[in-house]
This record gives sequence, C-alpha cells and structure tokens, in this order.
Amino acid sequence: MSSAPRVGVLALQGGVAEHAAMLRELGAEPVLVKTAEQLAGLDAIVLPGGESSTVDRLLRLFGLREPLRDAVLGGLPTLGTCAGLILLASGIEDPAPGQQTLEVLDVTVARNAFGPQTASEEVVLAWGRGGDVVRAAFIRAPAVTRVGEGVEVLARHRGEVVAVASGAVVGISFHPELTGETTVHRHLLSLVAARRGLPA
Ligand code: GLN
Repeated sequence: MSSAPRVGVLALQGGVAEHAAMLRELGAEPVLVKTAEQLAGLDAIVLPGGESSTVDRLLRLFGLREPLRDAVLGGLPTLGTCAGLILLASGIEDPAPGQQTLEVLDVTVARNAFGPQTASEEVVLAWGRGGDVVRAAFIRAPAVTRVGEGVEVLARHRGEVVAVASGAVVGISFHPELTGETTVHRHLLSLVAARRGLPA
C-alpha cells in the first residue's frame, strides 16, 4: 500500500484547522505550511478561506509567494477555497489597495460577490459533469467573472461561476470544510493519485 498523501494546508490565516481535519478524515496527512521549507515533499496543497489581502501580505512578508507559485506552476495539485481562490486567480476586479495574487489560474474574480452574507448561506450545487452534488457554505464569497481558455467550470450558484479547474489547480468560492462536504477534497486526492500513477 502506498503511503498517505502529504497535503499541505497554507496556515498563515483563516480556516486552517477545518481543512486539516477533513484531510485527516480522508486518510491524508495534513501538513501546516508557514514557511517555504514546509513546501518540500508535499503531494498537494490547500489554500483555505480567510481574508485574501491579509494572506497575500503574509505570503510576501514570509518569502512564501514565489516558492508557492513555483510549486503550483510545477504541477502540485492545489485547491483554493474562497480567499484561496482569490489568491490563485490571475486578476481581481476589486482588489484591496496593493493586493496581489499568485496568478496561477486564468480567471478573474470579484470579491464579496454575493452580498455581505453576515450569516453563512448553505446550498446544494451540481458539481462537475458526473451528476455529483456538493453542500456548499458561502461566506463573503467571490464569484468568477472571467473564465480563461482551458479552464473548466465545475459549479455555478445563482448564475455565477463558483468552481473552476485547470490542470491540477481547483478553485472554489465556497467552504466545503464547514458543511462536512468531502467531494472537493476527494477530488484533490484523486489528482494526487493520478499524479502518482495509481487508480483514484
Ligand atoms: N471576502 C474574503 C476575501 O476577499 C474571502 C472570504 C472567505 O474566504 N470566506 O478574501
């Protein structure tokens, strides 16, 4: 049997613990990532929700932006949720002052696209083309307003694109880790298995 996949969870700010718990539940070994060194030996990485402008600032402050960007561009299976999706995007319609992104996923996003959502909204969405559904929580969530060439749309909510994939990079507007929804994390682990040449 192959070893448990080591899945990093970017742990600078935001919903880190929930992702780590879900990955552990699915048989992966979560690795909290706060430094560039901790990117070594990962099979995948999750960029959690939180506040994208804060995470952007911390990534640059800690010298993590370029190594993380290189890892994602090098094919590391990557899941960005909510603020994590914003970090992956190539552009933001309404950035905070000075806010940058990793520019590794050819989409443009609009932040806080579904209103203030002081209370979280939980909905069921069709996921991908296989007839799956996901239970999704939206919290000050972004929408994808431009989908680049070769980027696949995986889910929509109220007519807006809220989940996309390109190669081994998956970005979603919502929080599956808060609803106990495992489909998206299993999708990430299937990308790891595909990369290792094993059946998912
Ligand atoms: N609105 C936040 C941002 O711009 C994202 C919210 C979230 O991750 N739940 O980063």
